[in-house]
Amino acid sequence: MYQLPNFRPTKAVIDLAAIKYNIEQLRKHLHSNIDIIAVVKANAYGHGDIQVANAALQAGASMLAVATPEEALHLREFIKNTPILILGASPVSFAPYAAQYNITLTVFSVDWLSEVAKQAKNFEKPLKLHIKIDSGMGRIGVRKQTELIALYNAIVANKRLIIDGIFTHFASADEENPKQFKEQLATFKALVASLPEKPRFVHAANTAASLIKDDVQFDAVRFGIAMYGLVPSPYVEKHLPFILKPALSLESELVHVKKIERGDTVSYGGNYVAVEEEWIGTMPIGYADGLVRGLAGQEVLIQGNRVPIVGRICMDQCMVKLPYNMVVGEKVILIGQQHQEMIKIEEWSERLHTIVYEIPCMLTSRITRIYK
Ligand SMILES: *Cc1c(COP(=O)(O)O)cnc(C)c1O
Repeated sequence: MYQLPNFRPTKAVIDLAAIKYNIEQLRKHLHSNIDIIAVVKANAYGHGDIQVANAALQAGASMLAVATPEEALHLREFIKNTPILILGASPVSFAPYAAQYNITLTVFSVDWLSEVAKQAKNFEKPLKLHIKIDSGMGRIGVRKQTELIALYNAIVANKRLIIDGIFTHFASADEENPKQFKEQLATFKALVASLPEKPRFVHAANTAASLIKDDVQFDAVRFGIAMYGLVPSPYVEKHLPFILKPALSLESELVHVKKIERGDTVSYGGNYVAVEEEWIGTMPIGYADGLVRGLAGQEVLIQGNRVPIVGRICMDQCMVKLPYNMVVGEKVILIGQQHQEMIKIEEWSERLHTIVYEIPCMLTSRITRIYK
């Protein structure tokens, strides 16, 4: 099979040097012996799991984290020896595969563990586990010391199971009010201290905590959103210890340009009506690519100008109002920098009343990812 060229001009360009830079900056910010767990779930937040994982490992990360068995197996096909942790609740039926492929699972309940322990004698290799504490997130994990000790003892009693780590997740590390964060941290510390022996990897911090909180580094931090150069929240933005470099830009081209007359309409429903003679450009990107209809009115960059999307966004195409006649093939930046202008992911997330995390995850597989 030969690789077809990329015909469609719509693409996401991923700057792997930016990813490495963000990790190297984190490395300098952390105490020297702290491991960095690169969070590459959801196809590395839409950036491409294998490429991002390799860049992260080159820049100093030592473990990878994903959300699902499928994500872990996909990484394992390409990345052989690095530990891979599945953060979510894996089905019990996946446990033998996890053991075989050296994938670390999260233990989040006594029931789950007893089901896994029943099969463990058939595992080809020992299964590595990280115990999840629900210190207040209310998602998965054990909440009480009695449950934790029961888990611990059951794992230690089973020769095919290994306690490799223990962790928790903060619900509000990116917010100004520290109350919940402090309570979660205290709960987690007390539970970890109640264990007969400290597991190899104690970890709690996500991006927000690892950047702006003290006393949360333990043995490792789980670094997700800021690895991609995005800031978890406006509050974290105000307290960033170093500049982040966004890794993703989104580009397309004009595939058609025309002049329309006063009164002419553009796109479905005809509710965009030209008030004068206007130049309209068409781009091959639409809601099936992740340019959701809620982004109608959003600006894009062409020749360094901010140019609005006009009319409804279609499934595969959309239209922009040009300041003057332009040629077919003219480059369009939807996210990223052109000349002095910049459209940040924050601009999209604010327009859509959501968080930056959702934006790169929205870009569908139809958008080719190009790496530089
Ligand atoms: C997604 C996730 C992370 C990464 O969070 P960021 O805010 O992107 O750093 C860390 N830990 C857990 C358990 C997660 O699910």
